[in-house]
Parts: sequence; structure tokens; C-alpha cells
Amino acid sequence: MINLDKLVRKNILSLTPYSSARDEFQGEAEVYLDANENPFNTPYNRYPDPLQLELKETISQLKNVPIKNIFLGNGSDEPIDLVMRVFCEPGIDNIVAIEPTYGMYRVAAQINNIEYIPVTLSENFDLLPDKLLKACNANTKLIFLCSPNNPTANYLGEDAIRQVIENFQGIVVLDEAYIDFSAHRGFLPELTKYPNLIILQTFSKAWGMAALRLGMAFAQTSIIELMNKVKYPYNINMLTQQKVMEALANHQQKEQWVNIILQNRQWLINELSAIELIETIYPSDANFVLVKIQQASWVYQYLVEQKIIVRNRSNVKLCNNCLRITVGTAEENAKLIAALKKLSIPSIASV
Ligand SMILES: *Cc1c(COP(=O)(O)O)cnc(C)c1O
Repeated sequence: MINLDKLVRKNILSLTPYSSARDEFQGEAEVYLDANENPFNTPYNRYPDPLQLELKETISQLKNVPIKNIFLGNGSDEPIDLVMRVFCEPGIDNIVAIEPTYGMYRVAAQINNIEYIPVTLSENFDLLPDKLLKACNANTKLIFLCSPNNPTANYLGEDAIRQVIENFQGIVVLDEAYIDFSAHRGFLPELTKYPNLIILQTFSKAWGMAALRLGMAFAQTSIIELMNKVKYPYNINMLTQQKVMEALANHQQKEQWVNIILQNRQWLINELSAIELIETIYPSDANFVLVKIQQASWVYQYLVEQKIIVRNRSNVKLCNNCLRITVGTAEENAKLIAALKKLSIPSIASV
């Protein structure tokens, strides 16, 4: 068992959160004169629900997780930042994370003045649980895992993840932004088994709503309550709540997109494997593929000139000469392949 009171920052434990008008009175009334709103229906004159209960009810049914175990944030960025502010004392505590991984964990740690300890994955991007746990010390409050991992695209491995969760005395944040594209089901069905686990998912990838900014965190109730205490009162605006509700009513659309993207991913992998310049196509459980290619930075620039933008990950640890390619529409993927086919080893060799 973990001792939450010992893990949480003292000032957060003792914090009395801001109490909004919407917190103090919940329910239906005829006349609302409590929040200093403009009474004329714009229709944006009223503050949105601070706890997004209607939206959470829908998400609860979809994910089969009770409302009290769901936190909604302004993208995943918000819970990533919030967990650091809840658990890590600036200048004292640290977080441990895999490397390479999503860049936001490091940036959020730096902004909050929290030491960030990266632990390099194996050469083929496997999680090394013993190495990760050894990097932790008495001041390590959080471990960040990302599975399927960005930018390496692989699922980290169920047993290795389990080993980390079961043997760490602090909180494990498992970012499952790409879980919809994975053959693995992820850890959400096992949430109740692990009181020290926070799972992050998002509407930005499979659901196609990156512009609306909605991220989800799933965890035991007391962790969710701590996050609610620290967040801005009205962190999810009304339009986002409404639009995501509409999309959730038609979740078959998401499943259709995922199927198409997975088919396109296979097509892309087949085509890329016929391109001589490409040395490795790493296995993907996500909606992108990582490839090792000769002269990656040069190829990146060449593609930019062709008006095709991929992500150059050459300067990332273990990703020397790697490009990260998002799976697009069939047409977009075909344009990329056509551009790459125009390149030859002699033209590259002269760079
Ligand atoms: C894209 C991505 C997210 C999503 O972030 P949002 O703030 O929800 O848009 C989260 N984690 C990882 C690893 C990602 O690649």
C-alpha cells in the first residue's frame, strides 16, 4: 500500500480550494444571481460545470470507470503539470522517466523546478524495470511511463510495466495517449488493482479532437480529489464539453478512423520497407512509425521543400538518424512515398 499523505506536498494536503458559485449550489433553480454573470443569453454567459459531470458520465460508460475516478484536463498537458504540482516539492523532489519519451514531462518538471531523471531504454526501446527502479531515491515521487511510447512507437510490455507499478513506493503515471492504436488493451481495466497508478488518455489522437483540448486522467478517488483541488475552477470550457459529448454519441466513427489508420499504417510500412535509404522501420503500436534513414536531417529538409512535414528525431537519444512519420490519409501517405522514391543513395551520398 502507498501512503498518500506522505507523498503529497504539505501545502496541497492542507489547501482549502477555491469554492466557486457553481460548487456551492448545484441543481436546478429559476433565478441565478450568484455568480455575477451577465443575465443575457449569449449563449456563453454562464460559467461551465467545474466538474464536468455530464461529460464524465458519458466517459464513465464508455471506459467503464466510475466518475469519481476520472479527472478531465485541458489536454493531457494539464494533468501532467498538475501531478507534479500535487506531489513534488520544487527543489527537493524528483521524477524518473524513460528516455526517449514525450518531451512534455521534462518541460513540465523544469517549469516546476523539479529534478528530472531520465533512464535510457534498451537499444530496441524495451523498458528496463530494474534499471528504472534503481534510478529512484527517497525523493522520487513520480515515475513517468508512456506506452505505446512516443517517439519509439512500441508498447512497453505488460510485465515490465507491472513490475514498475508493483515495486515503486510512489506514483506511476502511465501515458496511454496511443492506446487506441495498440493491440494491447492497456491498464485501465486494472485500475482498481493499483492505488499508485495514474493513467492518462486523450481526445487528441484517435478521437480526432486535438483542437478541443481534452485529456483524461484515471486514478483512485483520493488522487482525483487532489487534482480537482489544484486545477483552475473552470478548466474545461463549455464548447469543449458539448463538442466532445456529441462525438462520444457517435463513437463508432472513432473506431472506423482507427481501423483505417491501422490499414494505412500497414500500407506505409510495406512501402517504406522497399525504400533503400531506410535502414530500420521500428515496430509500431501507434498512429506513427519511427524509421532510421540515411542522412535523416537532409531527408527531413528535402521533404520540407516538397511541402511534406515529418518529425526529425535525430537529436533524440537512441534515435540517431530517425524520422517520426504520422500515418495520414491514403493520399497523404502516397505523396510521402512518392517523394522518398525520388531519392537515391547516390544523390544522398554526395551530401
Ligand atoms: C500527443 C500526446 C499526448 C496528448 O497530449 P494532449 O495535451 O492531450 O493533446 C499525450 N501524451 C503523449 C505521449 C502524446 O504523444
